[in-house]
Amino acid sequence: MSNALPAALIDTHCHLDFPEFDADRAAVLARAGEKGVGYVINIGSSLAGSRNSVRLAEEYDNVFATVGCHPHDAKDCSDADTAELRVLAQAGKVVAIGEIGLDYYRNLSPHDSQRTLFASLLALAGELGLPAVIHSRDAHEETLGILKEQKIERAIVHCFGSDEKFLRECLDRGYYVSFTCNITYKKADQLRQVVRNVPLERMCLETDAPYLSPEGFRGKRNEPSFVRLLAEEVARIRGTSVEEIARATTENAKTFFNLRGISV
Ligand SMILES: [Zn+2]
Repeated sequence: MSNALPAALIDTHCHLDFPEFDADRAAVLARAGEKGVGYVINIGSSLAGSRNSVRLAEEYDNVFATVGCHPHDAKDCSDADTAELRVLAQAGKVVAIGEIGLDYYRNLSPHDSQRTLFASLLALAGELGLPAVIHSRDAHEETLGILKEQKIERAIVHCFGSDEKFLRECLDRGYYVSFTCNITYKKADQLRQVVRNVPLERMCLETDAPYLSPEGFRGKRNEPSFVRLLAEEVARIRGTSVEEIARATTENAKTFFNLRGISV
């Protein structure tokens, strides 16, 4: 594989605060840089995770942070926790609220508490003028309903699946979508069809590391350097060059997250 690609890619969704990276976080980021993944957005998915996310962004020049609480943990997110998330969200290098949303697939929190937390953190995003990073699983209609109620204009639906109707509604509302390495899976033909049809100006790339390693690496830890492989796969699916995918998705990430002062 050539390594001619400049540092032009951005991993828009990873969890480097997770313990899976405790032993070699700096090496993981260095390896990402070597593969042309110049920046990562570390996603807060709990109060503790959001604290660590902000800390990582302070520690590493090429890390930005988001602050949020995953719907799985909605039942454990108290009013005091959301108050602290509000404070954290105003720290430097925090570029979005998320991941937040609804997960009616695993149902680890009651739907009521998921909806309440989602609405209140979307309201926070609106108040602070930050975009929202959305997790939606088996709950697309309600997710869109709450986004509409909260008048959210800047949202990205992460780890986008193969639901074309949901895709159309997201695009109609001006939202972005991001794809992860599950598009490389053997059985993902329907998802690859979606990847082929999404307007390039609304697409971002993400790993969701440590989850969802690409085909050939399944069962192992995912990491931001694999965005390179993801970009190559998107280019292959769309019949274009990896340079074009890198340029477009990086531009999209810079616009959507309003990334300032970065050199890609
Ligand atoms: Zn995630």
